[in-house]
Amino acid sequence: MPRFSGVLLLIASGLGLNSACGQMNYESERQAMVDELRNESRLTEEYGAPRISDQTLEVLGRVPRHEFVPDDQKRYAYENRPLPIGAGQTISQPYIVALMTDLAEVTKDDVVLEVGTGSGYQAAVLSELAGHVYTIEIIEMLGQRAKSVLDRLGYNNVTVRIGDGYAGWPDQAPFDAILVTAAPENIPQPLIEQLAVGGRMVIPVGAEGEVQVLQVLTKNSDGLLIVKNVIAVRFVPLIREER
Ligand code: SAM
Repeated sequence: MPRFSGVLLLIASGLGLNSACGQMNYESERQAMVDELRNESRLTEEYGAPRISDQTLEVLGRVPRHEFVPDDQKRYAYENRPLPIGAGQTISQPYIVALMTDLAEVTKDDVVLEVGTGSGYQAAVLSELAGHVYTIEIIEMLGQRAKSVLDRLGYNNVTVRIGDGYAGWPDQAPFDAILVTAAPENIPQPLIEQLAVGGRMVIPVGAEGEVQVLQVLTKNSDGLLIVKNVIAVRFVPLIREER
């Protein structure tokens, strides 16, 4: 029996080496993605889109996107594109995650609502900047999986709930920022009501298959909304719970 222990040790340390190399690759791929986003942001700025801030790019340089995608997608995790996460849904393109994060202007004491948890990646990005993130997912399997990934990675200031985000999360309102990561045809009234005075809502609006517009709504002290159109986007539709 003792004769084999050296062989076992070699195999075990070989495995350790492989996984250490894998981690290093993810890290260098993540930095390459951040560089690409910085360049893309410079280009899109010429067409009127806001430049992505260094603070947001630093956060994307830390959050391990590969942990939020299914195993068969991990090799593409740091490509700047959406990826399938099951149930016909997607993790958004990193550029869009960065842009929406920036537009929400989240600061460290902010309470944030995300509608459309999906993989949990956007929630993780927001949690690095906010006081607390509440996130709602309508598809139970996705919400449960996102919750277990967020818990495992130690994102302790994120709370996940399964339900129809159209209704928001009245118990925790008002929110300093609301991000909606699926497109409704019209802005849900409950979300408008749950936005704090001075708060920002970042939301894609438009019918499925038609041009959708990423909008930023700001609520002023009179409760009035100031609406700004940012860029044309394509999101999955906001699904409604059967009533
Ligand atoms: N933010 C996600 C991420 O980081 O992976 C990507 C979101 S994906 C583009 C849109 C998500 O919104 C899907 O997971 C979808 O199931 C969810 N969704 C659609 N309608 C919803 C609703 N009414 N309430 C909550 N989630 C909804």
